[in-house]
Formats: sequence, C-alpha cells, structure tokens
Amino acid sequence: MQTARELEVLRKAVDALRGDGATIALVPTMGALHEGHLTLMREARRTADHVVASIFVNPRQFGEGEDFDAYPRQLARDSELLEKEGVALLWAPQPQEVYPQGYATNISVAGVSEGLCGGDRPGHFDGVATVVCKLFNQVRPDIAFFGEKDWQQLAVIRRMARDLDLTQPHVDAIRGVPIVREKDGLAMSSRNAYLSREQREQAGALPRAMRDAIAVLSEGGEAERPLGNLREVLQVSGFDSVDYAELRDADSLEPLEKDNGNARLFVAARIGGTRLIDNMAVE
Ligand code: AMP
Repeated sequence: MQTARELEVLRKAVDALRGDGATIALVPTMGALHEGHLTLMREARRTADHVVASIFVNPRQFGEGEDFDAYPRQLARDSELLEKEGVALLWAPQPQEVYPQGYATNISVAGVSEGLCGGDRPGHFDGVATVVCKLFNQVRPDIAFFGEKDWQQLAVIRRMARDLDLTQPHVDAIRGVPIVREKDGLAMSSRNAYLSREQREQAGALPRAMRDAIAVLSEGGEAERPLGNLREVLQVSGFDSVDYAELRDADSLEPLEKDNGNARLFVAARIGGTRLIDNMAVE
C-alpha cells in the first residue's frame, strides 16, 4: 500500500492506479479505524478495482469546544489495518494540503443538513460537505463509500454529489453501508474509546431503548409516547442528556409524527462528555 501525504504524490499515484481505465473507490475516514471502517473498505474492494482510503481529522467539521484536539490519532496502526484489507493507496494529507493559507471556500447543503446533528452542531455539515467535495476533487473516484451510522451525513453527501456533479450521472456512486455494531448492539465509533468501563456498559442502553421504541413505532401509533419513554430510559440508564430523539423520513429527513412506511429513528445522547449517535429503520 502506498501512502500519499502531498497532493502531487496523490495525483500521480491515482493516475498510476487508474491506468487504462481501472475503477477507483474512495473511503473517507478520520482514522482510529474499527471494524465499521474496515467493512466499508471490504465493500469498496468488492465493487471497484482499487480502493483509496483517506484519513484526515477535518478541523472544519468540529465546533468550538468539541473534541478536535482529543480525537484519537493512530496513523501507524491504521496503515497496517488498511494494508491488510488490500487498500491500494492511503491519502493522509497534512492540514495545509487541504486548507492552504488563505483558504476561503465553504460548501453548505440546505435542507437535509438542518436539524438532528445539524441543529446541535452548527457548521458541522458545512465542514463535512467541504472536505468531502475536496476529497472528491483530489482523488476523482468513480464511487465512494459511507456508513449509515452517519445517516444524515450520507444524505448531505448524496445531495451535494448530485447538485455539484461530483460523480457520473445515472451512476449509484454514493454507497451507504449498514451500521456495524458491538455485541451489545452499540454502534461502533471511534468515540466509544472515550468511554470508561462503566459508561461503556451503560451505553448499551442506547440501542436497546431504540429497539424497544421501534417495536412500538412499527405498530403505527403516534411517536410522542415511545420517544418520551426512550428519553426516560436513557436518563435512568446513566446518560446525562439526550440531544434529540426523532422520527424522520429516511430519504427526505422530514420530521414525522408516526411511521409513514419509510421512517427512521434518530438519536443523539451524551454520556459523560461523549456524544453518541445512532439510527434505526422502523420495520
Ligand atoms: P469517521 O472516521 O467516524 O468519520 O467515519 C468514516 C466513515 O465510516 C463514515 O462514512 C462513517 O459513517 C463510517 N462508519 C463509522 N462507524 C461506522 C459503523 N459502526 N458502521 C458503519 N460505518 C461506520
């Protein structure tokens, strides 16, 4: 596996991989890789001739007072994991390669970025859209893989890719991969490493409470009661606060008062200083 840390090196390496028309899949990450990320790499390998993974802790998607400085950085370990997965090229740029002196451009996707994490983390999705747009322009992949763990992010990127012609028309180029979970159902996340042993145990209440709410929601009644119960269960289970617990349409992300046949439950909750997010289909 080759590693590029400067844009010039990346461009040459991508051109060499592309050769006479090989297809390239991009998998953007912020590193501290876990089985969820590696599942994206495997899906990418199955779909394209070559996989380019990126690792970049993107300062523009962290708000003031968020965990940009504390975010785990473990490039050597991550490189080994990617190599084992058969990733051809790792793009691990220095911040100045992505945001050179005087950088002044922002990408903002309206609609799907509003509410949920967009409401709690102002500017977060602008940061995500901006860096993903840059990664697409840098790597020029045929196809890219993102996790459903960040469902709203996936919706933002799909909208941006269509609006800005980042990918070929009529190609299903932005692929979502189902959430990979721990044994107790907690969605894998680099941020789970912040949890103490006790908090990690308490965190298992999140997917359990969500599944209980889904069981009620799938009967078609109003969402208010099951969502209220979910909030209470989380508070009693050791969570400090619930940022949101909402039912929304899976595609448009319009808020719903009850299941419309395409509903998804979205939750963000805090345990200690750690913010955990999850989402599940109402089936
Ligand atoms: P991150 O490094 O947290 O920015 O995540 C990089 C990519 O991996 C994003 O597309 C995430 O949605 C995806 N991802 C993170 N955790 C999981 C998970 N547990 N299951 C599936 N995809 C995930």
